[in-house]
This record gives sequence, structure tokens and C-alpha cells, in this order.
Amino acid sequence: MALDHDIEKAASLLQAGDVVAMPTETVYGLAASIASEAGLRKIFAIKERPFFDPLIVHIATWVEKDRVVSQWPAAAEYLAKAFWPGPLTFVLPKHRSINPLITSGLETVAVRMPAHPTARALIEATGSPLAAPSANKFGKTSPTKADHVRRGFADENLFVLDGGSAEVGLESTVIRFNLHEGKTVVEILRPGGVTQEQLEECLQKWGEPFVLARAESNASPGHGEHHYMPNIPLLIIDQESSTLKQNLRDRICEDFLLEKNVRGVELWLDQNPKIAARALYQKMREASDSGASFLYVIRKSAQIGGLWEAIWDRLSRAASRTYSG
Ligand code: AMP
Ligand code: MG
Repeated sequence: MALDHDIEKAASLLQAGDVVAMPTETVYGLAASIASEAGLRKIFAIKERPFFDPLIVHIATWVEKDRVVSQWPAAAEYLAKAFWPGPLTFVLPKHRSINPLITSGLETVAVRMPAHPTARALIEATGSPLAAPSANKFGKTSPTKADHVRRGFADENLFVLDGGSAEVGLESTVIRFNLHEGKTVVEILRPGGVTQEQLEECLQKWGEPFVLARAESNASPGHGEHHYMPNIPLLIIDQESSTLKQNLRDRICEDFLLEKNVRGVELWLDQNPKIAARALYQKMREASDSGASFLYVIRKSAQIGGLWEAIWDRLSRAASRTYSG
């Protein structure tokens, strides 16, 4: 948890229309007050983020949602009670006061209540919900430590609240709601820290008819095919064995115009997906900085379901190519 003094300073900066970096349990965010157009513009400017990629609004208390959304369906109420504060984001019709910069001009807005005590204290001290995307340049690997943010924005005079290593290590799960033939349709726009299985189990207890499904890829604006990219090529290798064969190594070097026998490093994933998720972005950074020429990750067929879905979603977007070994 950051010091009170630092939280007060960050809140003053936000009130004055500046941006600050804040820890959350998913990844570090680059925050601006939703009441400050200057702050919102600065997020897009320093992240080099295109305006078509909407921001998530972070709230600290239950009542604040009414300043952000204009509808609050029963399914949202039920899921929020189960998973907030936590890594679950709802896309809902926006409140009329929400600045179109936040929503990329859409009629819907994304909202979440983070669990990290520093993020919550900052929202409360600012007196306003905060819009915050991940605190990295657009398309790059997300930050899970304060130092990742400092290095990513070394040229900016960016105030960074240090809240330690992000506990989840991956972005939130984003869902939206529809009604179809009397059933609530819950669509997963982006897999993340709350798994499909957890949502399913929770909705079963709700007692109302529902359908839970993964949305078609790219249903979510900004969640493009290439994202989270490290500084060297990342390859996914679908195989059961744990070693990279020489002929595949040669092929990678050929495909990426690398000298034969340059160094490739393995991005090794823990068997426990919770631990793998927490370490993922840090490992991608370490490998990028290791002097190796490429990075590879072996995908085993058993690594499916649960948190693996979010892990492979991020790795697929970060990867330059997938090979079958
Ligand atoms: P991040 O950059 O991790 O904060 O992610 C924000 C993501 O949330 C965006 O890139 C979108 O994929 C999703 N999102 C935010 N607002 C909306 C919205 N109104 N409709 C659909 N997806 C949204
Ligand atoms: Mg991001």
C-alpha cells in the first residue's frame, strides 16, 4: 500500500487535470479523473493510444456506479456482489455525463471496482471515479510493477504510486449483457482474472435463465490482434515435449531473418495458472531485456480452461507466430 502522503499528492494531481500511475490487482493503470477532459486527453497522448480504444472507469464505492452507468441489470448486481472488488469489468449503457473520450463515442461504458487498497484510496481521495487503461505505451506489454511503469515512461514526469507487484498479473475479464428470448446473455468480451467457470458457477446460483458465452474475437474495440508485444519476437510452439528441436529453431531463425544459432530463450510457465499469470508480463520483460534474439513459449494441450484462457489470449496477441512442434 502506498503512503497516505503520496496518495494525497496523486489525488491533487488528478484533481488538477494531470495523470498518475496507480497499482491495481490486475496491472498498473494510468489514471485520470473522469471529470477532467485534460487528464483524459493526456492518457491518450502519453500512452500513444488511439481514440478508438475505450477506457475502463474505476470506482471505489457501490454508489459511484450510478455516476457512470445509466442501467444496472439484475445480472450485473448479482455478479458485482460476488466478484467486486475484483478483476471483473461490466460494459453497460453510459451515464449521460460520461465524456465520449472515455467510451470512444460509444453509448456504453466499461466499469470496474478494483480490489487494490491503494487504487481504492486514490479514487476516494480524488472524489471521482478514475478512467485508467494499463500504464504502458499502446500495444506493449502491461506493467505489473511500479518500476515497469517508470521505465516505460522514463521521458515523462509521471507520478507513480508504488503498490508492489500486481497480485493477478493479467487484465480484468470484460463482459456485457444482452437479453435474448427472455434469457440474460452474458458475453465475455475479454477473458481475464475472473474465469468463465467462476462466472458460470455464480450465475447457476442466481436462479434466473442465462447463457454465458465467449464473444466473437474482436467484438471488443481496441482489443486488437497485436497487443502486449515484447521487444523481441515471441513464438508460440504447440507441442507436448519440453524441448525446442533443432530443426524448428533453424526454421524460426530463417523466418525471422536471424543468424543461425542466435540465442532464443524460453518463457517458462508455471503449471499453476495463477502463478503463471502473476509472473507472465514480468517474464516477458526479462526475456526481452536478456539479450536473446527471440522468445518462445511451449503450449501444452492440457493448458486450457480457467485462467489459461486469459494467459493464452494475451500470449497469442503478443506472439509474432505460432508453430506446431
Ligand atoms: P485496458 O487497456 O486494459 O484498460 O482495456 C480496456 C479495454 O476494455 C478496451 O480495450 C476494450 O476492449 C474494453 N472496453 C472498454 N470500454 C468498452 C466498451 N464501451 N465496449 C466494449 N469494450 C470496452
Ligand atoms: Mg492495456
